[in-house]
Amino acid sequence: MKPESAAPSTRLSLWREASDTHVRSRFAGYYYLLAWGLLWFTSSAPWDNLWAWGGGSLLLLVFFALRSRHRPSAQLDSTQLQRWLDLHWLAILLQSMTWGLMLATLQLHPEIAASHLLTMLSAVVFATALAFTFPMRMGRCTLAILLTYLPSTAVKFHLGIGDIGESVALVVYLGYLGLFLYRWNREYRIGLERELRLLLHGEQLDRLSRTDALTELGNRYQFNALLPAWLANARRQNGQLTLVLLDIDHFKKVNDQYGHRTGDLGLQAFAERMRQVFRRDSDILLRLGGEEFAVLMPDTPLEQAIPLAEGFRASLAAQPLQVQAQVQQLPLTCSLGIGHFLPLCDDSAETFYKRVDDALYRAKARGRNRLELA
Ligand code: GH3
Ligand code: MG
Ligand code: MG
Repeated sequence: MKPESAAPSTRLSLWREASDTHVRSRFAGYYYLLAWGLLWFTSSAPWDNLWAWGGGSLLLLVFFALRSRHRPSAQLDSTQLQRWLDLHWLAILLQSMTWGLMLATLQLHPEIAASHLLTMLSAVVFATALAFTFPMRMGRCTLAILLTYLPSTAVKFHLGIGDIGESVALVVYLGYLGLFLYRWNREYRIGLERELRLLLHGEQLDRLSRTDALTELGNRYQFNALLPAWLANARRQNGQLTLVLLDIDHFKKVNDQYGHRTGDLGLQAFAERMRQVFRRDSDILLRLGGEEFAVLMPDTPLEQAIPLAEGFRASLAAQPLQVQAQVQQLPLTCSLGIGHFLPLCDDSAETFYKRVDDALYRAKARGRNRLELA
């Protein structure tokens, strides 16, 4: 079994992060507009300074459109996903900076007459929302929080608005937010890792359940799933489907003569020989059980499959299998049945399989080490 390569899990985790970032980002625009509207209509002179209120709304609308339209696609590879994330974070950071500066402008211009309390709350609430919503990236989120929080706080300190207790509370809250961001970041990363591990584990189990442990070919379970699927495919597309069944001759004697361990090595060598002969990517090699094997050949006419199967039989009879056991060479032969799916005659996967299995039985009955046509 091949170990999991790092690449697919990196892509998967980037994809997860990108879609999380997008989903959480989608509604941000509403909240900024809502907060700005609230500041506007609670100001003591909402109909003055319309340029400032209207201009601010327009800017927020532009960010709203940008962020909700910037969607990651499931087809992107790791590099493209990374680029998507960088771009999306750029939008988040720019919006945070714009918001921070808009709030600072309200503080700097008392003639706009916005509520001081609401202005400070807008900085605090949006900084908190950032930490809560985007804890995926610690550094970027910290920067977004500072961009939201600092401009209006700096103006407040500079102009001496409010009392000292307020200022202390703001600084303490920022530190508290940092701690929470750290915790939420860890929770997000751990959750993501756990999810990926479960996913990979599930895939591994699924692959194992379809693989024969001794030969690493597909197993009977896989065969039972694939045969009807390929059959339906061939029927739908008027395509070709050939099935070869192989059964090692007098294999019981190998076990009796050399022991079960040598028998196992023989089965492995047999599977390896199959891989060397049935080499096309589309050939599906399976061990159906015991010393019985199959090759499912989609899109392959009988005229192409017969020489391959006959070649396999002849080469096995001519060249013994190499094994690392008490004997080095294991001379074996096998009998084969071969058949081609006939839509008018095979009404199900079972009938098709039965026809080819009968051909294999005939090959045994007619003296073994031979190929019979279904
Ligand atoms: P035939 O030519 O009629 O097919 O004779 P055969 O001996 O090959 O067939 P039979 O069905 O009588 O016996 C199959 C033998 O294959 C029985 C068993 O000892 C052996 N066998 C089945 N599975 C395994 C396995 O996983 N490892 C080993 N070493 N032997 C196996
Ligand atoms: Mg046999
Ligand atoms: Mg058998």
